[in-house]
Amino acid sequence: MKLYDQTIERITNLLNESTTVELPVRTSSWPDVSDRSMILRSEMAYELGSNQFPGIGATIITANEDLVSGDGVFLHGKDLQELKGDTPYARVAFVKVDEATLGEGEALYRTIRDLEYVRYHFYPEGFMMRVSPSKQIESVRIGRSALNRGLSFEITGNRLIEAFKKKPQVEAVQVHYVTDPDFDYKALSKLFTESEEITKTIDHILKNVIMDCNACSLQAVCDEVEGLKELHFKK
Ligand code: SF4
Repeated sequence: MKLYDQTIERITNLLNESTTVELPVRTSSWPDVSDRSMILRSEMAYELGSNQFPGIGATIITANEDLVSGDGVFLHGKDLQELKGDTPYARVAFVKVDEATLGEGEALYRTIRDLEYVRYHFYPEGFMMRVSPSKQIESVRIGRSALNRGLSFEITGNRLIEAFKKKPQVEAVQVHYVTDPDFDYKALSKLFTESEEITKTIDHILKNVIMDCNACSLQAVCDEVEGLKELHFKK
C-alpha cells in the first residue's frame, strides 16, 4: 500500500522547512468531555485557524515503516501556552497501518475513511475541533479555563494517538501541529488536496467500470500515484 507515500514524503519535506520541536509521547490524566460539549466564544481563549487565518487538517495512511517508524508528536511553531490570540493552524497525522488488515476494494476505502473520522472521536477538555470537510477547514477553539490549567499540544497530540490506536489496523501514529505564521499553509493545503484526490480515485475505481486509461478522466492522478492502476486492474 504505497498509494500515499509520495504525498507523505512531500509533506514531510515541507514540514522540515520549519523549526521542529519533538514533544514527549506519554499518557496524561487530562479529562475528556462528551461529544456534545461546546466551547462558546465567551469561554474561548483564542482560535487555531479562524476566519482570518488558515486552518487545515488531514490524516494520511501508510504501510511503510520507514515513513512512520514509531509514535511521535511534533510542533512547528508556538505551543498553546505561548500563543496570545488567533493564529494560523495545521494538523496532520501520518498513520502507519498493518497492511494485512487493510482489506481490498470497498473494505480498503472504508478503512481509509474510518481512520479519517477518528478526528471526530477525540474530545480533550478545552480543545473543540470544528471541521468543514467540503472546504477542507479544520479549526480549534481553545477554552480559557483549560488553557489556565495547562492544556498543551503534548496533551492533545498524545490523546489523538490514543484515539487512533483504538483501531485494530493502527501500529504507529505521528502527529504534527503547525502554528508558525511564516509556514507555507497554501502548499500544505495543496498536498492535502492531492491526498484527498487519491482517496476519491480509490472510490471511483470501485464504482467505475471503465478500464481504458486513455478514455478515463482519472488518468492524470493514476499516472502520478504508484499503485492506483495496479489497484484497478487487480479489481
Ligand atoms: S487505472 Fe486507468 S482506468 Fe482505472 S481509474 Fe486509473 S486511469 Fe482510470
